[in-house]
Amino acid sequence: MPDQTPLKIAIVGAGLGGLVAALSLARNGHEVQLFERRPTFEPKGGGIMIRPVASHFLQQWGLKADMENISDISKATLYRDGGTGKVFVRRNNDVTFGDKPDWGCFREDAQKVFYDHALQHGVRFRFGATVTDVSEDDLTARVHLSTGEVVEVDLLLAADGILSRLRPKILPNAPSPALGYSTIYQIRLSEDDVLADPDARELANTPDLSVWMKRAGGGYAVVRCNKTVHRLSGAFGILERDDDPRLWDENGDIEYVRNYFKGYSKALTSFLQIAKRCDRWRLAEIPDLPQWISPKGRLVLLGDSSHAMLPDATQGFSTIVEDVGVLSHLLSKYQGRGVPSLTKIWQEVRIPRVNRIKDWAKSNHTMYTKGADAQLKAVEKDRTPPTQDISLDKVEPDMNASYRSPAFFKWAFGFDPIEDVERYIQKKDQARL
Ligand SMILES: Cc1cc2nc3c(=O)[nH]c(=O)nc-3n(C[C@H](O)[C@H](O)[C@H](O)COP(=O)(O)OP(=O)(O)OC[C@H]3O[C@@H](n4cnc5c(N)ncnc54)[C@H](O)[C@@H]3O)c2cc1C
Repeated sequence: MPDQTPLKIAIVGAGLGGLVAALSLARNGHEVQLFERRPTFEPKGGGIMIRPVASHFLQQWGLKADMENISDISKATLYRDGGTGKVFVRRNNDVTFGDKPDWGCFREDAQKVFYDHALQHGVRFRFGATVTDVSEDDLTARVHLSTGEVVEVDLLLAADGILSRLRPKILPNAPSPALGYSTIYQIRLSEDDVLADPDARELANTPDLSVWMKRAGGGYAVVRCNKTVHRLSGAFGILERDDDPRLWDENGDIEYVRNYFKGYSKALTSFLQIAKRCDRWRLAEIPDLPQWISPKGRLVLLGDSSHAMLPDATQGFSTIVEDVGVLSHLLSKYQGRGVPSLTKIWQEVRIPRVNRIKDWAKSNHTMYTKGADAQLKAVEKDRTPPTQDISLDKVEPDMNASYRSPAFFKWAFGFDPIEDVERYIQKKDQARL
């Protein structure tokens, strides 16, 4: 690690984004305080994928063993007819690039791992601390708490989620979240409970991830069994307009979900019968923002507050880990250039990649909800073998290639964010000479 003065950094929000930022920055020697409005640490939530670029960073930050204790790697994705359960496309899931696994785990388990590591690295957690405002001048960022307390730091990261109240303070003209037309109902079940049901058992007997779609479109479902922790996650997507202003609710209506999926395959309906409860997650995204930082560069939007996306590329959190990896790198290696110039470089490098991934997620969402027939037509039209089944050694990564192409696949999963930012800095420095 190059010589550096520890920076004072404030993070608002102890979600997945705030936690990984805290642990990564504290690990690099910075003084990190994290402000969370909830009174205590409350890990919660359904299944989440941690994609290869993100898993690489987590390993570098010393989390390999702990992540392996909570994750597994699914061998294949099975696209299934929602009605009959018949598999119509099977894709190998081998998207491991070198030592960068494609992990599947549960959000609550990951949060615990991140929280423990953040504590070990000396992060000061302040629960029950609601941030009402932020401000900055050339040298300082300020956190304003509901109690009237003001904390001065060198850099503030607003990781306060998709409904961020700090976003309009940092970017006065920032748009509100754009609501989608789907709601995801998430379920967790124990492997034993599913194995005990003869109709649902097949879901627990395989490490494969299954995606159900109706032939003509409509509701879809994604189920996988995490064999490491012996729990299954199910995400049930329902196309609907939902006027509830809360985007997330711990108590979804399981009876409503069962009714909606009546007539779907027996394994799926039995899975829903075993479930006693679900949570409800109304899908929304933040329209592409022109910038993620304040005018003086000391207030930064991080995570869903800047780029919440649809979940259908399973990349929302993974792109946040990439963002954090690049920011940590810049603040360590180039601290002499000053915080404002580094946050500017950071957003210039990160925004184009993240916006492309957001668009990919949207395109996947359309494909899932249009149903199996549309998916089959797309596969036939492509005529290329499934990306995971061919060697990518000679493929040139290309962010502008079609989402189903090997070139895009390699760009999405084989990307090196540090190499990317280093290339950018070199180019900028050369242009200045
Ligand atoms: C159904 C679904 C499935 C998904 N699956 C995947 C996946 O497989 N892979 C993937 O990479 N991503 C996935 N994502 C995306 C991922 O979950 C999010 O990108 C990520 O959780 C966002 O984390 P965050 O920390 O930015 O925000 P949040 O998790 O929303 O955290 C915000 C925190 O800020 C706190 N807070 C808010 N306001 C204040 C305030 N004023 N003062 C103090 N604290 C405050 C809140 O209490 C909260 O704890 C999925 C998303 C959905 C909806």
